[in-house]
Amino acid sequence: MRIAVVAITRHGIAPPASSMKWRNTSRTLKPAMSTTAALDVTLPGRPQTIGRLHPVTQTMRDCVKAFQEMGFRVAEGPEVEWSAYNFDAMRIPDDHPARDMWDTIWVDTLLNGERKMLLRTHTSPNQARVMERTPEPPVRVIVPGKCYRQEATDATHEWMLTQIEGLAVDEGVRMSDLKGVLYEFARKMFGQDRKVIFHHSYFPFVEPGVEMAMDCFICRGSGADCRTCHGTGWIEILGAGMVHPEIIENAGYDSSRVTGFAFGLGVERVALLRWGIEDIRHFYANDLRFLGQF
Ligand SMILES: [Zn+2]
Repeated sequence: MRIAVVAITRHGIAPPASSMKWRNTSRTLKPAMSTTAALDVTLPGRPQTIGRLHPVTQTMRDCVKAFQEMGFRVAEGPEVEWSAYNFDAMRIPDDHPARDMWDTIWVDTLLNGERKMLLRTHTSPNQARVMERTPEPPVRVIVPGKCYRQEATDATHEWMLTQIEGLAVDEGVRMSDLKGVLYEFARKMFGQDRKVIFHHSYFPFVEPGVEMAMDCFICRGSGADCRTCHGTGWIEILGAGMVHPEIIENAGYDSSRVTGFAFGLGVERVALLRWGIEDIRHFYANDLRFLGQF
């Protein structure tokens, strides 16, 4: 093995002695070692600030890992999305009242006199995108990513949020599969003794739709004087449901044979809960006093 010989000078590391120009300057090594010179090499070095992952990124990676361990692979989709995928493919046509559920940030480019492009309001359009590029089931993916909504920000609302979309489509996928996966997720993220409860809810792209809550891990479900669950004993954590047969058909699958479940999870919400953070706006205020704690 050949070892290159280098000299340390006041100007840093010099190239090998074969360079005549640098061989002369290496003589400056001697005065630099002296503690009386301008450069005191006995002084301790300046500590380097070491970066770390943002708390939302840490949480997202933990969530992704939990689902990967259950056999889901990660897919991605665009943040600037067509309204056809964001709304129409998700059974939210122009005149559908469900469009009111999302205040949309549109891209100000007109196509045939109409605005067609937007910042995606949820990761759900990737249900259609993933199935579109998978000619035959099974599909088992999660799609993590940023979403954008025109929100009046407060302690629980931000205009940018991170979601994880989940989708499993195959023959014989049942509601009990959905419950099993999400129950296991809650246990992996919040402790093995978690309990979960499902309430009926409405999302246009699933039927039936549910919201999942878990027993509060702070007060252990008692609700007594608990700020985390506001005294209810339960914490709502995500929305889910069985993929609407129309979406299965639109993907070119036979909905009499193929079924699926989908879920959408807010990563900031999980991060708020796991560390007991009271205001979602801390995450993107770029205050190192806050970010340095994670
Ligand atoms: Zn509680």
